[in-house]
Amino acid sequence: MRTSDVFELLRDGQPRTRAQLADLSGLARSTIASRIDVLLRLGLVAPYGGGVSTGGRPPSLLALNPGAWVVAGVDIGASHATAALSDLSGTILAERRADLDVALGPDHVLGWVERVVADLLADQGREVGELAAIGMGLPGPVEHSSGRAINPPIMPGWDEYDVPGHVQRAFDVPVLVDNDVNIMALGEQHAHLPDTADLVFIKVSTGIGAGLISGGQLQRGAQGTAGDLGHVAVARAAEVLCRCGNQGCLEAVAAGPAVARALRESGVDAAGSADVVALVRSGDPRAVQAVRQAGRDLGEVLATLVNMINPSAIVIGGSLADAGESLLAGIREVVYQRSLPLATQHLAVTTSRAGERAGVIGAAALAIGHVLSPEHIDRAGARVAEAGAGGVVAAGVAAGL
Ligand SMILES: [Zn+2]
Repeated sequence: MRTSDVFELLRDGQPRTRAQLADLSGLARSTIASRIDVLLRLGLVAPYGGGVSTGGRPPSLLALNPGAWVVAGVDIGASHATAALSDLSGTILAERRADLDVALGPDHVLGWVERVVADLLADQGREVGELAAIGMGLPGPVEHSSGRAINPPIMPGWDEYDVPGHVQRAFDVPVLVDNDVNIMALGEQHAHLPDTADLVFIKVSTGIGAGLISGGQLQRGAQGTAGDLGHVAVARAAEVLCRCGNQGCLEAVAAGPAVARALRESGVDAAGSADVVALVRSGDPRAVQAVRQAGRDLGEVLATLVNMINPSAIVIGGSLADAGESLLAGIREVVYQRSLPLATQHLAVTTSRAGERAGVIGAAALAIGHVLSPEHIDRAGARVAEAGAGGVVAAGVAAGL
């Protein structure tokens, strides 16, 4: 049994004694002691003060120590960015948000990331060596394995740019990059649906995309483009030209700009998602009807998805999600009609509870998932062993570089 297996026994946060860990794992106490020694030196496990003395020697309890290392989560949107520092349980310690145009290019945007992460560490009184990893979301297609954006439509200068390489000039830690919808799916799950293993998160804003979590794992597909729902064909869009050059795309009739355009064509003044949402909230019947129709169009594609992968939750986020029940009603109408009863019996269709913080929470969760993975715990353990007794290993170094 590896160090990571012993760590997994403590990952639920429940304090346990060495004897209990030996019983749970079936390992000899001497083996448990050496594994625990490594975890104590990494800081991932710490003595737990809650032991109650029964008259003799107090029981020596050990527990997960979420404050041992910190990670940074960064959510880069089209026109704004959020960065946060989180402990290893995913609790956000500090957060910054700024208006930032992604089209200004990687030097400008990643320069902001470096400054803000350094500021957040300083504000929290944490050393750079306590930073274990950085998770980041970008508003375009990302090849997760290399951390590079590939042909991103709204990100001039970012195509195939080495994002991890740039950030690692300032912070010598693993940098995990993913697209914005994938990190939103992770964030929603982490913050509000920790027991939901099969979840589809749909972002409906300027475009439409999905983050798919199946069997507890984010599904990126072969090239990282899984969940690109915006350009799936729907019947009502047959004659409509999409910005991608094709006709018939979901996005061309159901994304924020398309709904606003439909309203303008019927004489209602609406420039984008924000106006559409405001009109729906004010009870404008034409806006309510337009959003409900966008929901039906989304439902047409989601019904196929429900039949294919059988999620237990569909969560709608992005700017048009603020239209709330009008959008959900259209989605439910078609999904329940077009999917198998067994698949929809326990299917929840809701708006995001994490809201605009889903991305930054998910970016931190992406980083935490990396540093607490068995491979990295064991690699870190090996580095501690190499460092010898009393040797100190920086979190980022221990975590895998
Ligand atoms: Zn398209």
